[in-house]
Order: sequence, then structure tokens, then C-alpha cells
Amino acid sequence: MAVDAHAHAAGGSAEDGSERSARRRDLAVRAAVEQGLIDEDAPLVCLLDTAGIRASAAALTGAFARALAPGTPVLHAFAVKAAPLVPVLRLLADTGLGCEVASPGELALARAAGVAPERIVLDSPAKTAAELREALALGVALNADNRQELERLDTLVATAPTTSPIGVRINTQTGAGTIDALSTATATSKFGIALRDPGAREWLVRAYLDRPWLTRLHTHSGSQGVPLALIAEGVRELYALAEEINAAAGRRQVDTLDIGGGLPVNFASDAATPTYEDYVSALRSAVPGLFSGAYGLVTEFGRSLTAKHGLVLSRVEYTKTAGGRAIALTHAGVQLATRTVYAPAAWPLRILPYSPKGTPLTGPPVAQDIAGPACFAGDLLAAARELPLLAPGDLVCVPDTGAYAFTAHYGYNSLPRPAVHGYTVTPSGVRFTLARPAQPIPSIPPEAGASTPDALL
Ligand SMILES: *Cc1c(COP(=O)(O)O)cnc(C)c1O
Repeated sequence: MAVDAHAHAAGGSAEDGSERSARRRDLAVRAAVEQGLIDEDAPLVCLLDTAGIRASAAALTGAFARALAPGTPVLHAFAVKAAPLVPVLRLLADTGLGCEVASPGELALARAAGVAPERIVLDSPAKTAAELREALALGVALNADNRQELERLDTLVATAPTTSPIGVRINTQTGAGTIDALSTATATSKFGIALRDPGAREWLVRAYLDRPWLTRLHTHSGSQGVPLALIAEGVRELYALAEEINAAAGRRQVDTLDIGGGLPVNFASDAATPTYEDYVSALRSAVPGLFSGAYGLVTEFGRSLTAKHGLVLSRVEYTKTAGGRAIALTHAGVQLATRTVYAPAAWPLRILPYSPKGTPLTGPPVAQDIAGPACFAGDLLAAARELPLLAPGDLVCVPDTGAYAFTAHYGYNSLPRPAVHGYTVTPSGVRFTLARPAQPIPSIPPEAGASTPDALL
């Protein structure tokens, strides 16, 4: 992977958005040191660039608004699992976004952020009857995953009136991307109703005709590693099925298409590519009807809204060599970048080195392992990465970790959740606001059975 370790904020000569965000990052790292967010006693902190998140939300909203027929109802629902923090949901709500949730916990977070039920979409593949009842009572939109869930909904909608828009999730079976674990549109994916299985299409059309309350269709066919054209192909299948159902019904029964999220993120540089504009272009050529105004639109982007706007900052605690390899021992590892540690080829992360004062570190490149604190040998954020030689007290910044990384803490070794601060660059300096306090060590035993210590005696 190409890594620019020497001049962190360098990019093209143009003053583009990614260059500005890299400059904000440099300022934030330095200010985090100067303002005492990171020091010997608190060697690990996570930061979120609020201006960057706002810019991504505006790019999403703008790209679709420019393409859609005027007046088309549209809800951009942020996939909460990407960054399940109430202040993030509230920030995004402030930019006009809603929430896509997939568990009772995520629904509770969206509600704690003040997101109105009609701006929430519920998509879990394993909703209990109680979860369905709650969603229907609130008026939260939901997408049924499978035939049995649809039968359960038959009983529920017959017994209690609801304002929830209800749809069905389709697996378009249009094919996998480069990361198996994230490919939702394979022949045997666990999600949705498999559209190309024998008889499935006919069954689905019948299911809609039998249930006038089914008014939406949903697919989420993209993710990291899936090319835009392949995602767009999934949406084209969705659109074609909606047209088929509406033709059979003789009315516009399906009035809204939920196309999911899945825009990949560039982890190799600061460039925010592909852009929402790129995706909208791919959709316009594959599914022009999507923008005609005939259907309302729901999207569910996660990673592309926040990944590039989060960073982990850790002090280097010790350095050493083993078998000729330089190793830097830091506090950032598997608990914060779980996917990178367990599947490094699929989830490479950049490492940006800074001095103890928070200035970019320069020097001849030396291959180094950037190791985390966890007690297993594979806990490395980068292996043999060419970087200026690190020393104790230096800082390593891990950018692009604002989605599915420190917001999805993994409790290995009882490592605590670090603090998350938002940052804003103002004319008078960098202003930090605490978005999530660090998990205090004394809170760990109560969460691990300390109130029932004799339970196994
Ligand atoms: C995870 C998920 C998303 C968000 O995916 P991203 O790749 O983060 O954009 C949207 N919809 C559903 C149903 C999901 O499971």
C-alpha cells in the first residue's frame, strides 16, 4: 500500500476537500497534545472531525438531490452500526439524515439522539416478535428479511394498526465483491429473499398482491470491496421487481425503493473516492428510472459518511527489535481496529507518525511493526511498514477509523473503551468536545459479573 509518511497533509496542489481535512487532522493531533487529551497517563484517544462528517453528509444529500426529480421524497438513513455514538447520530440528524438500525440497542441510540420514528428504518435479519411490535407501534419503517418474518407481520398488522412503511429485503444475487465476509449479494447470502432462486420471483409478486400494506422494496447489495457498477446492478434488479409488482397490482403499490448503503471507502490515501457523485452516475446509467420521481428513495450509507473522519491517536510506549524487525508497542490494537488485525489484507490502515509534541515525524523509512497492547502475537495494526523510526513517546495516528473501528469496540483483554472527542478548527484554535468518555477501569468488573461473584461456586 502506498503510504505517504513524511508530509501528512500533502496532496495535489489544489486546495481540495481531502487536503483541507488532512490539514485539520494535523492541527488536531498537535492540539490534542497541547490541550492534554493525550499524555503518559492517558496514552490513547479517538478523535472525530465534525466538519468532515458534515461535508460528507452534504455531499451525499447534494449528489442525490441534483439527480432526483424535484419533489421526490427521500430519506438518507445513516447505518448506525458504522458509528453507534449518540452525538454522531445527532450531528448527522442536524444535517438532515435519519437512522438505519438493526438491533434494539441501535434503535435505542437513534431515539436517544432525538431522531423521529418516521426517520428511522429497521433492518435486522432476526427481529423478535417484541421488536417488530415495538417498531410497528412507533411507526418505524421496517424491511422484512424472509418469508417467516412476513408471516409474523401478517398477524401483527392484522391485530394492531400501524403507520410503519413496510418492505421486503431482496438478495439480488448479483455477485460478490473482494471481501467475502461483507458480500451481501452472493447466491447463498444470509440476507433477504434470494430473488433468483426457483420460484422466488413469482412468490414475491404474489406476496405483495396478497398484502396491500407492503409498499417498499429493499436491497443492500454493496459494501467495501464491491465495484460501483455491481452495486448499481443490484439496484436495477430491485427497480425491475418493483415495476413488475406494480404492473401485476395495477397500481403503484410499491412507492419507495430502499437501495441500502455500501459505498466503499479509500483507505490508501486522503482522497475521498469513490464519491457519492460517482455512485449517482453509476446508478443513473444502470437505473435511470430510479430518479424519475416515480418512487420515493431511502438510502442507508454508513462507512462512507464517517470512516475518513475518525482517527485513533496512541503514544508509543516502548520500542524494540526482534529477529531484525523494529517493533513499536502502542495502545492501539485489536480492540479498536478488529477487522484490520484479523484480516489485514482486506482492511489495511495507514499509520501516520508524529513527534511527542504532535508535529509530523520525518526521517528515513524503516520497516516497523506497529503493535497493539493485546496479548496475542497477531495484534498488529501494520506489519513491516516503512516509517520514520519511532521512539517511546512518539505518537501514531491511525486515520480512516471513524466507522466500524473504535466505534465498534472489541473487549479483548478487558481493554477499556477510549474517550472519543469531536474536533473543530476555529480561528482561535482547535476546539475539542467530549463525545464519549473513556470507560473507567472500575466499571469493568461490574460488567463482568462482579455483582454475582459466587455464581459458579
Ligand atoms: C451495514 C448496512 C448498511 C451500511 O453499509 P455501509 O457499507 O457502511 O454503507 C446499510 N444497510 C444495511 C442493511 C446494512 O446491513
